Amino acid sequence: MQSADSAQNSLPPAHTGQSPQTILESVFGYAEFRDRQKEIIDTAIEGRDNLIIMPTGGGKSLCYQIPALVRSGTGIVISPLIALMQDQVSALLQVGIRAAFLNSTLSEYETEQVIEQMKAGEIDILYVAPERINQPATRNWLSQCHISLIAIDEAHCVSQWGHDFRQDYLLLNQLPQYFPNVPRMALTATATPRSQRDIVNNLELSSPAKFISSFDRPNIRYEVAAKTDGKKQLLRFLTGHRDESGIIYCLSRKKVESTAAWLNDRGLTAMPYHAGLAADVRAENQARFLREDAVIMVATIAFGMGIDKPDVRFVVHMNLPKSLESYYQETGRAGRDGEPAEAFMIYGLDDVVQLSQFIDNSRASEEYKRNEKSKLDALLGWCEVTQCRRQPLLNYFGEGQLGSNNAEIGDESTDESDTTSTKMSGCNNCDTCQTPPKTWDATEAAQKLLSCVYRLNQRFGLAHTVDVLRGKESEKVQQFSHKQLSTFGIGADLSQNQWRSIARQLLVRGLLSVDSERYNALTLTAASRELLQGQISLQLREDVSEPRLSKKVAKHSNGVTAQDSTLWDALRACRKDLADEHGIPPYMVFHDATLMEMMENHPSSKDQLLGISGVGESKLEKFGEAFLQVITQHIDNN
Ligand code: ADP
Ligand code: ZN
Repeated sequence: MQSADSAQNSLPPAHTGQSPQTILESVFGYAEFRDRQKEIIDTAIEGRDNLIIMPTGGGKSLCYQIPALVRSGTGIVISPLIALMQDQVSALLQVGIRAAFLNSTLSEYETEQVIEQMKAGEIDILYVAPERINQPATRNWLSQCHISLIAIDEAHCVSQWGHDFRQDYLLLNQLPQYFPNVPRMALTATATPRSQRDIVNNLELSSPAKFISSFDRPNIRYEVAAKTDGKKQLLRFLTGHRDESGIIYCLSRKKVESTAAWLNDRGLTAMPYHAGLAADVRAENQARFLREDAVIMVATIAFGMGIDKPDVRFVVHMNLPKSLESYYQETGRAGRDGEPAEAFMIYGLDDVVQLSQFIDNSRASEEYKRNEKSKLDALLGWCEVTQCRRQPLLNYFGEGQLGSNNAEIGDESTDESDTTSTKMSGCNNCDTCQTPPKTWDATEAAQKLLSCVYRLNQRFGLAHTVDVLRGKESEKVQQFSHKQLSTFGIGADLSQNQWRSIARQLLVRGLLSVDSERYNALTLTAASRELLQGQISLQLREDVSEPRLSKKVAKHSNGVTAQDSTLWDALRACRKDLADEHGIPPYMVFHDATLMEMMENHPSSKDQLLGISGVGESKLEKFGEAFLQVITQHIDNN
């Protein structure tokens, strides 16, 4: 954030020795700790190492920020993401905490200043990039300062098996040599049992307390639809999300550009983001996304790492992501503020073919390819589930009835370890729970398709196979005299889309295969023979061709009614003005949830305003008056 106003000048009182509850209320403006935050904070204040696995938006930051304030000295936060660091520091300055960061974006002079302040004990929380803290020079001067704790954010980066491995993280096991008796906290949102073990072992945490929360993101609603007309489906989805911020992921740069342009033509504010854009354009688009309300980012997966915008209300996938891991990480960027959010995916057979080709054509080892293929299969299988989407998602990450994360951690200290397992019959917040998909006996249709593939000598792709089934006299049919096949026209009763859906579901179940070396010809598998011979039958879900909008999202998903909406708009306008004035994004003034509480409770004094969640003393001073005026004016006018 370019010009976050500097609260350092005012030197607010240190919070050393205050109770966590007091700090929660007076500094952050929240009434209660969430879930296990209090326990975690107490453990850290005691001086014990700990491992914290909490989903995105769970509230990890407070877990180290509060103990850093309570314990005497400066808390160090190691974070690999520069944008996130700046964001966090701006947010802390807003609530009156003396925060700073050290990374490659600072000039030599600025770095010197931070070091001076550190030595004078004038900084409560210091964010540092991992490569910086590993420099001998940094360690030297830092070890002369009084350090209260070391928080290692994104701790999964220490695992070589994960997708974000960083060499610099491996050296963080040396920190106790330089900072003896300073507790270390390792935090992450993404950790399979294996990377949890790696975190404890590679960082050499000393009998850490473990706090492992459920991976579930109950406020995110999941919906998956088969692609019929992608743009139409997207537009229909977006009508339920007017005036909201969201991310739309597309597979290719070209698709990103055309989708963004298309949305702009329809009066929405959409910006493209992909690695092919000039760095300054990317930076500007990202800054606008953070700064403005109701902006849509249309992006390749190049976008998102380190995006800490709490009020992203939806994430759309216009194509299949690479795996369930990617899907969960990408959709996880929605609803960090805990308010309702949606994850909507549209996928088609062309995606499956394209992703399979990526894998086949890569020069990786056979083992890697098999691995990638099975990940893709798992994702497809999940797309086609007929029951609740949430449970299989959690199972995949080792949670739920099957799972117990901590059982996998090979470590003796079990007293604090815990897994909140999520057992449910249905979450009632996904498409399959809300509108159970219809299933039908597809044995005969599938047999028709497979025998057609057989008659075509397993040499033709899906489009032609469907033409033959439906009895279409295409050029190709004439060229190959396929009108004479016994399967020509035997599937005229089903539409092209229905046949595609059947083929997709056969692919998912391994009853059909695609040979990407031979022009994506459909081929039979061992299992297809069983189906052809009638040894197995097949229940398939009917094609979910049209996305259904749940009642809840069809109205404004923020729950703003028409009567409220003038006040809502006025509050948001006020927030935008203040944000611009202070050079910070709107959510750093107040979150949506805070504005919503104002809208409902109409606070009319500073005292009442302080009672609103998200309003602490520092923000009350800076922004309180302006919001009170907006509310009073609204009441006068009504
Ligand atoms: P994470 O780092 O785990 O993704 P954050 O620390 O950014 O999550 O917290 C997510 C959001 O929840 C933030 O806006 C934060 O202010 C808010 N939050 C955290 N703890 C509480 C709490 N006890 N009460 C209310 N809001 C909270
Ligand atoms: Zn469900």
